[in-house]
Amino acid sequence: MSIIVKNVSKVYGKQYALNQVSFEVNKGEIVGFLGPNGAGKSTMMKIITSYLPPTSGDVSVCGLDIHNDSLALRKKIGYLSESNPFYPDMYVREFLEFIAGIHHLKNRKEAVEEVIAMTKLEIEQHKKIGALSRGYRQRVGLAQALIHNPEVLILDEPTTGLDPNQLVEIRELIKKCGKSKTVLLSTHIMQEVEAMCDRVIIINFGEIVMNEKIKELKDIAHEMGIKDKKQNSEQIDLEQLFQTLTRSKK
Ligand code: ADP
Ligand code: MG
Repeated sequence: MSIIVKNVSKVYGKQYALNQVSFEVNKGEIVGFLGPNGAGKSTMMKIITSYLPPTSGDVSVCGLDIHNDSLALRKKIGYLSESNPFYPDMYVREFLEFIAGIHHLKNRKEAVEEVIAMTKLEIEQHKKIGALSRGYRQRVGLAQALIHNPEVLILDEPTTGLDPNQLVEIRELIKKCGKSKTVLLSTHIMQEVEAMCDRVIIINFGEIVMNEKIKELKDIAHEMGIKDKKQNSEQIDLEQLFQTLTRSKK
């Protein structure tokens, strides 16, 4: 098991951002972490990457524990945070060399070349990060997450704000990475999960409301009385499934 989350709660004042959340991610799986804004996705990811302590509960990544092995655990993870802490005045290549230095990589030049090629940043590598389009900034974000060849990728809304072409490219890139790594990615778009993931975990108000393989979704939607999008269509109405599961508490 790559990621084990056990009874994690995070309380801000009186609000439970996460309430007794438990799930696991197998090695090599691509799992979509889905939920409306404010559901607790980013909070969970910050806890898994050991940037934020939980109020209670345990997390381990590749057998390393967030409480006791925080530094070693971070080395196993490539993390794209929701607000990329980028330096707009740094040049793409300069920034990636800087990140390679932080990781104390031995072959820094090669590592930078490799991620630039992998994320197709060749043409933009000599531009300042602040001058890039959002799609290319996301690629820089992915490049910095991949540079130390981590076993696990935690990607917080990697596709939000991209245009349709950029979306397809980033999805392909994530799928490619998923072949050799464990990936947990967050989004609030159900179709996104269907396009990229093996499994979906849906979170609402800090609690998990679904944890299922994508190929099971059709049967589950039918059981819940959700009809196919069009008659005789294989497509289930994923939007409706998501909305049914994440309705506001009244
Ligand atoms: P998501 O990423 O799913 O949109 P978040 O994890 O960012 O959700 O937030 C979950 C909930 O926790 C939200 O209600 C948010 O307002 C709250 N929250 C997040 N960070 C803080 C904080 N530092 N202080 C207080 N409340 C917070
Ligand atoms: Mg978020």
